Amino acid sequence: MPAAGAEYDRAPANLAIVAAMDPPHSDTPDTPDASDPALRVKALESLLVQKGLVDPAALDALVQLYEHEVGPRNGARVVARAWLDPAFKGRLLADGTAAIAELGYSGQQGEKLTVVENTPSAHNVIVCTLCSCYPWPLLGLPPTWYKSAAYRSRTVADPRGVLRELGLALREDVTVHVWDSNAASRYLVLPIRPAGTEALPEAQLAALVTRDAMIGVAQIAPPRAPGARS
Ligand code: FE
Repeated sequence: MPAAGAEYDRAPANLAIVAAMDPPHSDTPDTPDASDPALRVKALESLLVQKGLVDPAALDALVQLYEHEVGPRNGARVVARAWLDPAFKGRLLADGTAAIAELGYSGQQGEKLTVVENTPSAHNVIVCTLCSCYPWPLLGLPPTWYKSAAYRSRTVADPRGVLRELGLALREDVTVHVWDSNAASRYLVLPIRPAGTEALPEAQLAALVTRDAMIGVAQIAPPRAPGARS
C-alpha cells in the first residue's frame, strides 16, 4: 500500500518532536498555552538548533528510529506471540495491560492497554479524536498523520473512506469498529495472521507486522515466496 497518510501529512517534519511530549488529553487541545510542555519543548528545540547545539537531522533520525523501529517492534512481538500461543492471545484480549506486561512492555502512555482483534468480518482502527493518545510502549511515537486534524475528525465520521484513502479497501460486509483513545485507555489492533505463515517462527512472524496494521489502517501482507519478483 502507499505510505499511510498522504493527505494527512502536511505538518512540518519536526512536529514529531512536539508529539514526543504527548500532552495530557485535554478538552481544548488546539488552544495555545505557554505552559503546555509540548510548546515549551518546541521552543527549547528551536533554541538549541539555532545555537548550533543540536543537529536537526540527528533529531529527525532519532524520531524516525522510534516511530518506525523501536516502538513498533515491541507491538509486533506481542502480535506474533498472540498468533502462536492461543492461551496468551486469550489473556491479551481479556486484559491487554497484564498480558503485554508479561513480555516486559509497560510504562508511560501504556498504563491501560486494550487489544482489539481483527477477524474476516470485523476490522478495528484506532484514533485519538482530541489529541494524539497512542500506545507508546508498543508502537513508539505516533506518526504525524495520526495527529492530523483530518485523520482525527474523519476517522470517526467516515472510517471506511479514510481507510480507502490510506490504501485499505474493505469489503462492504466487513464491520468497522473505531476505538477512540484517551489518556486513560489506549488500543492496539491485533491484525489477521496472513495465509502462508503457518510454518514461520515467532521472529519471522513479528517481522511481517507493521505499525500501520497495529493502528488498523493496513492489513498484513502474506510473506513473499522465495525468489518472487516484485
Ligand atoms: Fe488524546
